[in-house]
Amino acid sequence: MTPNRNQMVTLARRPQGKPQREDFLLVEAVIPKPADGEMLIQTLYLSVDPGMRGMMEEPKSYSAGFKVGQPLTGRSVGRVVVSHHADFAAGDFVYERLPWQLYSVSDGRKAKRVDPNVAPLSTYLGVVGVPGFCAYFGLKEIGKPRAGETVVVSGASGAVGMTAVQLAKLESCRVVGIAGGAEKVAYLRDELGLDAVVNYHATDDLRTALDQACPDGIDVYFDNVGGDITQAALSLINHHARIVICGQTSQYNHPSESGKFAPERLIQKSALMQGFVVYDYEDRNDEAVARLGQLIRDGRLQHRENIIEGLENAPQAFIDLFEGKGFGKQLVRLAHITE
Ligand code: NAP
Repeated sequence: MTPNRNQMVTLARRPQGKPQREDFLLVEAVIPKPADGEMLIQTLYLSVDPGMRGMMEEPKSYSAGFKVGQPLTGRSVGRVVVSHHADFAAGDFVYERLPWQLYSVSDGRKAKRVDPNVAPLSTYLGVVGVPGFCAYFGLKEIGKPRAGETVVVSGASGAVGMTAVQLAKLESCRVVGIAGGAEKVAYLRDELGLDAVVNYHATDDLRTALDQACPDGIDVYFDNVGGDITQAALSLINHHARIVICGQTSQYNHPSESGKFAPERLIQKSALMQGFVVYDYEDRNDEAVARLGQLIRDGRLQHRENIIEGLENAPQAFIDLFEGKGFGKQLVRLAHITE
């Protein structure tokens, strides 16, 4: 591709079940020209998120749906290359939900300047971005873990889960992660210091494995995946347990299935289950950035990224999310720059 050409990834058709390569199309396009009050952004990193799957259905999830033939959109970090906007200058780095394309025009209303001197640019899509905010607010405002309690996190190897387990450890809880595969289990146990990790790929009796990992039951269950894993966790909750519903990745490719939800368990245990969207806490993002940033600088919060190169590989990176192939925050890098 020549430098004056744009490229985008569009939704070719709505996926049926698991997404396939044919559901996406890489399309050549022209670079749009910013008008007065607008700027041209070169995207540097795309965030690849399981929640985008819901947006590929006819619109009904918590975000507006994608349109067939139109580019996907996602959380992105980019660099302003041309600015006719009073608040942004060429060379600024910004965070915004942008089309999956190399260059996009923005009116700046939803753009937020990010500083590579405060945190590496990629982390504004991960540990100091929405996944980190989910872990921080979901635990602090809903899970409310207390020292000595048992906290179980599903999807523990993912961007949200990995942060949630570490924040729970910092509250002196007994922390149990659920993840798929020996490498992820070893990392969570040996690098992040979890008290136990259940490898759901390696057992056909998840409930027993989880029971053994949680001898005192479960006080806080932070759910990223839903389905059978959540059923097993709910069967082990203690009185006044708190259940944080952050995501339901195992259900996203089967939107018509209910996930066998058993609300009677909440009654028996006087438990609280609450869902949330990270935007509920939008006005407190600076608080989360300050706390998570400080923990990173202190060496008390680790993060992990899986960076794929090139827009043309973004569809496969998305498909791989549902195969557990990635490990940590899944990103696609569209351009290299010196931060
Ligand atoms: P992520 O980093 O993409 O996590 C991907 C991991 O999910 C995979 O590595 C895999 O780990 C696990 N996974 C994939 N398919 C699975 C399945 N069928 N069963 C069990 N585990 C499966 O995701 P994330 O960014 O941490 O997000 C976690 C959840 O939070 C997602 O559901 C996302 O949609 C949700 N979310 C919610 C909000 C909100 O505002 N509420 C905002 C952002 C994200 P293993 O191989 O270890 O299983």
